[in-house]
Amino acid sequence: MTAVAPAFHLLSRKENLALLASGPLDVLIVGGGINGAGIVRDLALRKLNAGRRLRIGLIEKRHFASGTSGRNSQLIHGGLRYLEQFDFGLVREALRERALLVKLAPHLVEPLGFLIPFTSWFERCYYGLGLWLYDLLAGSRTIGRRRYFSREELARLEPGLASASMHSAAIYFDCRVNSARLLLENIFDAARHGAIIANYAEATQWVREGDGFDVRVKDSLDGSQFTIRARRIVDARGPWEGGGNLRLVRGSHVVLPALTRSGHAIAHFHTDGRIIFVIPWGPDNRLSLVGTTDVDHPGSPDEVGISPEEIRYLLGIVRQLFPSAKDLEPVAVFSSLRPLLAAPGASASKTSRTHKIRMEDGVVKITGGKYTTYRAMSAEAVDLLMQDMAPDLVGRCPTAEAPFPDSPRPATREAIIAIAVEHEMAVRLADLMFVSTYWGYHSRWDAASLRPIAQQMQERLGWTGERLEQEIALVLRIGAIPKY
Ligand SMILES: Cc1cc2nc3c(=O)[nH]c(=O)nc-3n(C[C@H](O)[C@H](O)[C@H](O)COP(=O)(O)OP(=O)(O)OC[C@H]3O[C@@H](n4cnc5c(N)ncnc54)[C@H](O)[C@@H]3O)c2cc1C
Repeated sequence: MTAVAPAFHLLSRKENLALLASGPLDVLIVGGGINGAGIVRDLALRKLNAGRRLRIGLIEKRHFASGTSGRNSQLIHGGLRYLEQFDFGLVREALRERALLVKLAPHLVEPLGFLIPFTSWFERCYYGLGLWLYDLLAGSRTIGRRRYFSREELARLEPGLASASMHSAAIYFDCRVNSARLLLENIFDAARHGAIIANYAEATQWVREGDGFDVRVKDSLDGSQFTIRARRIVDARGPWEGGGNLRLVRGSHVVLPALTRSGHAIAHFHTDGRIIFVIPWGPDNRLSLVGTTDVDHPGSPDEVGISPEEIRYLLGIVRQLFPSAKDLEPVAVFSSLRPLLAAPGASASKTSRTHKIRMEDGVVKITGGKYTTYRAMSAEAVDLLMQDMAPDLVGRCPTAEAPFPDSPRPATREAIIAIAVEHEMAVRLADLMFVSTYWGYHSRWDAASLRPIAQQMQERLGWTGERLEQEIALVLRIGAIPKY
């Protein structure tokens, strides 16, 4: 492993905000979720043979990966359940992307076995057919073939599972990812290749002026405002995009002390038609990530939290699967929103995950999709931009398939904090706890346990005592577990 040059330093955010305001951009990407991050990397890596480089910027109103892209089920997967909806195109595309991401970022995307318990012979045949199709669609891009287990073998593999009520089981393979980290690596790679990127910068409005746009931007940390001039805009605001064709569906997770022993995840097809995953998670797999729910979210995308009903629903399933877990309490919870294409009459879990990318009056808009397919979606969005801005270059612009550099991660807490603050643009305690690391989800925190970490950030960022307390309070608010 070779160390790569840091993408940012302590003053990068301020410098980049000044650069963004200083002259016209070719493309401004609004939103630092996985779609914005994938697009900015693809644009930055494309070789423009015309002897000029694109001037590209990206702004994110909070921290990168603080939306859905850092708070999802952490899977790079084909989506077994989409087979039930006959969405073969989506599954095939996702399986292709899965294979590619294992190759491009093996340090972040790792194959994981998923045990599916069957309660009857019928289930074994029904889901067995799906698994056969799943392997068939993966073809030569397979990362492991399905296998079947008897009830006794299942009981030996996972002694905690209620195997007495089960008929048999199968194992199939998908991948686990640290979704916030892969997103950050897209951002860092783009910055290393010249993209001008800043977090805590919110696009408050944009207006068309001549052959481009004037975008009003608010620095979310100090409230100051400025304008960015850009020829084209990519609207990668995800759930914040608004508009009538978007349906916001909340998905929530609970984090529990480890439920499984085999190192495999569990994929449980619930009687209500939902699939619930129990995924080994956290340091040394000492935790289980359990999710997800699927409920319509009528509120603001800025206010997303698990409801007591969702906690009870997930714990109910866990207790059914693992009878000895009846007294387990959540270590942490988190929720985020799926911005799905509205389909009148369809239930939340049946609404399609396919995406739509289009150019509307100089703005590229992205709706729907999955984390797994972000790279293909980004390439499609960039193709659209090229067709509009430099059509002669479309065929000559290869899609970014460059591997992600694997630099060694520091071993100590102090070093991790130093790198997050100095080289990863983490400016708030929540950025460190929920994005640079997932420490915020790994244990139950209180003000006393957070304070030493906050103080290390304080030393580097010069916070006042009052600011330090505000930062701690924000982390406690984000991580709060409602009474259930
Ligand atoms: C519970 C759940 C679990 C999921 N699990 C998986 C999974 O395991 N595998 C998978 O493939 N997919 C999964 N998905 C889907 C996947 O996570 C999403 O499709 C993907 O993360 C969406 O990315 P995004 O960039 O569009 O949105 P986001 O990640 O939400 O990013 C949008 C960003 O735009 C920023 N923004 C908004 N307004 C502005 C503004 N005015 N100015 C600047 N910035 C702005 C926001 O702060 C946010 O950071 C899951 C989804 C959910 C909800």
